[in-house]
Amino acid sequence: MKKLFVPILAISLLISCNKSTKSNEDKALDAKFDKYKDGFVTSLWKINPGWASGVGYHKYDSILSIPDASEEKIQLEFVNAQLDSLKQYDIENLSDNNKTDFQMIKNQLEATIFSIKELKSSEWNPSEYNVCGSFAEILNGKYDSLEVRLRAFSAKLKNVPAYYEAAKKNIKNPTIEHTELAIAQNLGGSSVFDTDLTPVVQQSKLSDREKKELLDKAKVAKKAIVDYADWLKNTPNKTPRSFRLGADLYAKKFNFDIQSSYTADEIFKVANDHKKDLHDKMFVLADKLWTKYKGNEAKPTNKLELIKQVIDKISLQHTTPEKFQSEIEKQIPELTAYVKAKDLLYIDPSKPLVVRKEPAYMAGVAGASISAPGPYDKNANTYYNVGSLAGWTPENAESYLREYNDYILQILNIHEAVPGHYTQLVYSNQSPSIIKSILGNGAMVEGWAVYAEKMMLESGYKNSDEMWLMYYKWNLRATCNTILDISVHTKNMSKEAAIDLLTKEAFQQQAEADGKWRRVTLSQVQLCSYFTGYTEIYNLREELKKKEGDKFNLKQFHEKFLSFGSAPVKYIKELMISKE
Ligand code: ZN
Ligand code: ZN
Repeated sequence: MKKLFVPILAISLLISCNKSTKSNEDKALDAKFDKYKDGFVTSLWKINPGWASGVGYHKYDSILSIPDASEEKIQLEFVNAQLDSLKQYDIENLSDNNKTDFQMIKNQLEATIFSIKELKSSEWNPSEYNVCGSFAEILNGKYDSLEVRLRAFSAKLKNVPAYYEAAKKNIKNPTIEHTELAIAQNLGGSSVFDTDLTPVVQQSKLSDREKKELLDKAKVAKKAIVDYADWLKNTPNKTPRSFRLGADLYAKKFNFDIQSSYTADEIFKVANDHKKDLHDKMFVLADKLWTKYKGNEAKPTNKLELIKQVIDKISLQHTTPEKFQSEIEKQIPELTAYVKAKDLLYIDPSKPLVVRKEPAYMAGVAGASISAPGPYDKNANTYYNVGSLAGWTPENAESYLREYNDYILQILNIHEAVPGHYTQLVYSNQSPSIIKSILGNGAMVEGWAVYAEKMMLESGYKNSDEMWLMYYKWNLRATCNTILDISVHTKNMSKEAAIDLLTKEAFQQQAEADGKWRRVTLSQVQLCSYFTGYTEIYNLREELKKKEGDKFNLKQFHEKFLSFGSAPVKYIKELMISKE
């Protein structure tokens, strides 16, 4: 309790003007809505047992829902009943926390209807069908004894064959890209039913009969998965659906996923203007740095080429594969001390970030990521997972380290850790809302991390022309993610044009651009979250600065903004502006 005292006090001061004017009637309404939310979450887990296990709610671990027509009916009935319940509440009279929770629940419910009735990815995305991850969670989880977990595992196995039979019935004309992904991911993950499972079962205290029954059922499950992969490989698909979503569905999915005050068309224009602005700024810096890095060499006439050559030269300043992790570890306390010294925002020292080598089951993914405790496991550590470069070829390691050179590595740490994702997370845990933990807005979360990068540099962090040039390059990545996603899904952008955008205009390595192309063929809208959230947060700050003039206080702005939790920026904005 003691740990939470200071931040809670700070937050209640910020919203006290609202609280004091609340009538008893409104308080009763909030209490009623709190109760409604509890019921909503309980029912949500009951009909989505896989999602529940994923967030650490293990009551329904032994259940696997079969994705057939009756399951769809259950989902739609749930959604309609909940939308009906929401009508009892006048959002204007709810507390700030409940206002945003209300909006987020409503959006989730409407998004489910959109997904079932219009998006219909259950027909064209075979990779939506994969049970391996949820079984691995149960097998590797530390939340209960091995025997309890293995019994849940065993019970859950029962429906695996029916699950994949239902999947085959749902799939109509899948995209080639999602079909290949489904085959690779299902086969890749299926080791959870033999190689990973067998030794664990043998070690357990289950009876011999239970062990045999479990391993027999696992064999049947494994076969269902291999059959599914074979079925995907062998079923003729003469007119596969395009992986491009198309403008109409895209616009709707954008609204549900991002929940922005911008439409997809609007943010597309903002991103293109921003790209041009970044190129202008980068040219000024690169031109200034030319002699320092390129001596008397003749300057290329093409501006983008000139920028690229200077970036390539600066990128040679980087750490070694051996020191990669310790370098990151060293920077976290430095960043924390800087944020404190500059009075940018309060960071709760009682929940330190633990830097660790990427655990084996995550290996091979991104260079660095944050693992946060789920809503049912709040006291667990927050980890900063750092990928090891051990075993990489010298060429691959060199290319990676140039990308994450001495400048970019610091910006990465700002983004992932301080004052980016990790810091935002600590704040969101202080204004506890189960709704925001499970339905948290990705554009707000990513937008904050991207905003934090800019804010740190503006405050003078490691100020130099090189730092700014590299920051702009990094910011171009988020900007071009948005341009790429919208162009590919709604404007028929070719692969060649996409790679050109990423390598020539965003100065990315070929390998990185290839990876991004693959990602844009498999996901829709998510790539827009970084730039859209960033733009909204930055604009909100500038608007408040203008309004408040001398009274504007950056630290207060940050703390107040974060106190609303991971809600969509447009709702936070409404609340922050209305209180002026
Ligand atoms: Zn090198
Ligand atoms: Zn991020």
